[in-house]
Amino acid sequence: IVVSVLKENRGHEKRVALDPEVTKKLVKNDFEVLIEAGAGKLALFADADYEKAGGKIVDRQTALTQGNIVVVVNEPGDDTLAALKSGQIIIGLLSALLVPDKIQRLADAKVTAISCELLPRTVSRSQAMDVLSSQASIAGYKATLLASNLYAKYFPMMITAAGTVKPAKVLVLGTGVAGLQAIGTAKRLGTVVSGYDVRAASKGEVESLGATFLTSTVANGAGTGGYARELTTEEHQAQQAELAGFIAQNDIIITTAQVPGRKPPLLVPQTSVDQAQAGTIFIDLAASDLGGNVASSQPFATVTTAQGALIVGASNLASELSNSASQLFAKNVQSIINAFMVDGAIQIDPTDEVFKGLLATIDGEIINARLRKIMN
Ligand code: NAD
Repeated sequence: IVVSVLKENRGHEKRVALDPEVTKKLVKNDFEVLIEAGAGKLALFADADYEKAGGKIVDRQTALTQGNIVVVVNEPGDDTLAALKSGQIIIGLLSALLVPDKIQRLADAKVTAISCELLPRTVSRSQAMDVLSSQASIAGYKATLLASNLYAKYFPMMITAAGTVKPAKVLVLGTGVAGLQAIGTAKRLGTVVSGYDVRAASKGEVESLGATFLTSTVANGAGTGGYARELTTEEHQAQQAELAGFIAQNDIIITTAQVPGRKPPLLVPQTSVDQAQAGTIFIDLAASDLGGNVASSQPFATVTTAQGALIVGASNLASELSNSASQLFAKNVQSIINAFMVDGAIQIDPTDEVFKGLLATIDGEIINARLRKIMN
């Protein structure tokens, strides 16, 4: 069985889907691994490292056409969609719910699409395959460090001969995987941290990190699969009003709120942005072309408000730790591959509870229920 690794060709992307370590393990398990030349360069893996691990460096076309399994980080571009043929498998963060037209093309070509973000995460067997968690955890960690770099004051309390400096106050909106890691990192840097989420279940997790949980007045914001649901317009307005006071009291606001397949909820309205004091830092992990959690945040850009607050559109922070992120991504991909290999042959069971979710397409059909719902 041939596994091909493609070089990512989306701007701002430094990660690669497979690292030399996992390449070595796959080769040991009788896979042939083809790596597009230069695929790991921005994640600090040289072609020679892959060769040492037993992989073979090839050009893009060879990787695309020879792989039984093609692994990528991000959704495929047109050249990939055009090249993949019946019987091939593609694995990556394909953003299936956001680009259903691309998934339809894969289904039409009878390509099996494993879209990592569709993984049913509450099934314990799926934990080792959880790309969203491994990458969100990195993004949350980096969000706090980024804020500390941009902030013109100390993070921890400092008692010095020249006087005492108060600790920074950090507010994390959305306390899932990224938010909790942002909180943990901010606590370790000595700040005073609070967290907020519409899922009441995250209260215990926030408090176990030593942060204060700000209880939302939105009733039962939990949806299915451990995710939040999309709020109604009224709930949304009530939420923005309740948050405005908290936002004004904090120096650093890190936002991570997502609802799968939907526009990210706007948690920090324009009025809160306009009123933020000079030096306030907003780090918006949800910033995307669809919008973000902070009004006027721009993906991959930093905006300075008239008052002097900064809004960072931190759209792909996992990529900033490209080496660690790729290592963990590769381990997740290896676990997915292991889960469908039986006696050296590919045997994907679309009725299996994990693959029922993870598969966007198989045998020319779009089988994922969430995806089918948005396509009908
Ligand atoms: P996510 O990236 O989809 O969203 C981030 C956070 O934003 C979530 O906590 C969500 O509740 C919150 N959010 C969404 N809309 C909001 C709003 N309007 N206001 C405030 N907060 C809002 O979430 P995630 O980090 O991927 O985690 C999703 C769930 O999956 C969590 O329950 C997490 O504990 C769970 N999970 C479970 C496992 C496991 O069981 N092994 C692994 C990973 C994640």
